Amino acid sequence: EKKGLNEIRKMFRDFYVSKGHYPGKSASLIPKNDKSLLIINSGMAPLKPYFSGQETPPSRRMTTCQKCIRTGDIDNVGLTSRHGTFFEMLGNFSFGDYFKKESLTWGWEFITEVLKMPEDRIWATIYKDDEQAHDIWRSLGLPEERIVRLGKEDNFWEIGLGPCGPDSEIFYDRGPEYGCGKPDCRPGCDCDRYIEFWNHVFTQFSKEEDGSYSDLAHPNIDTGMGLERIACLMQDVDSIFDVDTIRYILDGVVELCGIPYESGNEKADVSIRIITDHLRSMVFMIADTITPSNEGRGYVLRRLIRRAARHGRMLGIQSGFLAGLADRVITVSGEAYPELTEKQDYIKNIISAEERQFMATLEQGESIIGEYIEDLKRQNKKILDGEKAFRLYDTFGFPLELTKEILAENGMSADTEGFSACMQKQRDTARAGRKNTEELGWEESDTDIDVPETVFCGYETLSGSGTVLA
Ligand code: ATP
Ligand code: MG
Ligand code: MG
Ligand code: MG
Repeated sequence: EKKGLNEIRKMFRDFYVSKGHYPGKSASLIPKNDKSLLIINSGMAPLKPYFSGQETPPSRRMTTCQKCIRTGDIDNVGLTSRHGTFFEMLGNFSFGDYFKKESLTWGWEFITEVLKMPEDRIWATIYKDDEQAHDIWRSLGLPEERIVRLGKEDNFWEIGLGPCGPDSEIFYDRGPEYGCGKPDCRPGCDCDRYIEFWNHVFTQFSKEEDGSYSDLAHPNIDTGMGLERIACLMQDVDSIFDVDTIRYILDGVVELCGIPYESGNEKADVSIRIITDHLRSMVFMIADTITPSNEGRGYVLRRLIRRAARHGRMLGIQSGFLAGLADRVITVSGEAYPELTEKQDYIKNIISAEERQFMATLEQGESIIGEYIEDLKRQNKKILDGEKAFRLYDTFGFPLELTKEILAENGMSADTEGFSACMQKQRDTARAGRKNTEELGWEESDTDIDVPETVFCGYETLSGSGTVLA
């Protein structure tokens, strides 16, 4: 019989508890004393003080299921079968206790004996020079041809400063029917055949402020397995959006829009998945005390709510729908995360207020951008002036990100350099006489951005990197 996502979470914890691990609670999405990170994006992130030795862990072996947000994956959401901005990461951790052999051996035991995955579907990637990892995999019975050696980009884990090291990733082969058909299709290929579901990081180094690597006194283990991904594989469904708990949220979106899911309207399907994902992110973020604002985490939240609202509008859903769907997120996740249930009314109120505020903005902005698009079509042009994009943003509070998205839907783009120039000009004016603040990028922008109060600033800083959240 098929295991539900909530059940798989428990199976993982029970298994690692049986291997002597202390079951820790998920930390808040807001990092504690960690300037390098805007939002918690992995199981190990909140455990850094244990890895670095700054704090003493409750046990040298720990297991957690950590709520995570990866804003960098926002452009994948709805398009790939395996990415959400929100997901839960299962992990086992060793703080100077066990190392590679135990980690891979227990991992193998969990997937083949507890989850009973067919062994012949499993592949592993390793860092090219990691003979230890290679030999352990061979001894566990993985044949040579399903061990793939990759370079530093693929199999060396580091995020910002702190602990890092080579890793080994475990993939599941869903079969050629999911594949891209290319002759070199194998783990690491971006198609849906080989699904990466578990990363075992062998943390032996620490990256210092000056960019150098130093040896950790004791090597550590940090693993991360996407709960939604493993549930997707165990439930044998096409995507994480078909996993029982997530599908329940998606079904709520489908009910409201009245367009049957996967009925041939691919554009609608993408919007349905985006709303489903963003609902999860917004509910969990608000429960962790993040509120919509124009900077840092609050801005991430604002953008997620507004993006979901806009996709709802594209689907023809009556506005003011998000808070009602938030109930579904809480229904399926409230048992594992009691903070959701405790703050249910509060969460819904925040979402409603933000959606309401945005709809007013959106109606104005959409009609203006619609006129711009008609103008461009008449003139046979495909690029919207930076000045016009800026006018939308500055006068109507219409985010550049949405301008770009709407233009892209019409095969057009915006002159982002021109936009940036206008933004810079405005900031120079606004800041004349004020202290000179560096333009803040996404990762650092969790502290006070110096912006004029009434202007809807912050949607796009001057990174020029395409996506705001990337
Ligand atoms: P991918 O290559 O698929 O983007 P990743 O290599 O970025 O994944 P890791 O940083 O290794 O992922 O994180 C460990 C595990 O967390 C992954 O193996 C996967 O199961 C899960 N995971 C990572 N990103 C996401 C996401 N956006 N949505 C759902 N699960 C994720
Ligand atoms: Mg990724
Ligand atoms: Mg990967
Ligand atoms: Mg990975």
